[in-house]
Amino acid sequence: MQPFDDTYFMKKALQEAEMAFDKGEIPVGAVIVIDNRIIARGHNLTETLNDVTAHAEMQAITAASNFLGGKYLQNCTLYVTLEPCQMCAGALYWSQISNIVYGARDEQRGCLNLKTKLHPKTIIKGGVLEEEASILLKRFFIERRNLN
Ligand SMILES: [Zn+2]
Repeated sequence: MQPFDDTYFMKKALQEAEMAFDKGEIPVGAVIVIDNRIIARGHNLTETLNDVTAHAEMQAITAASNFLGGKYLQNCTLYVTLEPCQMCAGALYWSQISNIVYGARDEQRGCLNLKTKLHPKTIIKGGVLEEEASILLKRFFIERRNLN
């Protein structure tokens, strides 16, 4: 049996990213986990919804809050294939989420280089299936360039 570890849940987030890819969306996916159980999934839908706030993390935060019946995501872990941007890091701040685990770094728009404040209770870690996440992103941008 497969263990419920960071790699396991990041694979689930990658499946979400692939769903975004298939819709022509920048392939970023997220899942939110509590007690080894996935309670929310999301993928980037900014083109489909014509909404710049429709990032994978935002979809997952809303779904998780609906599932839990409360706005705080204490004891939850977000798995996201790309380091969260400032907007998502801001939303995660308000959610008081316990853990953020990301795949690939986003040097330009990620929350770390831009020094977005995370909640003091939030622990962030990266590099889980980083290679898989960035290959998917690169493939997307290469294919899109070839279409133009
Ligand atoms: Zn974002």
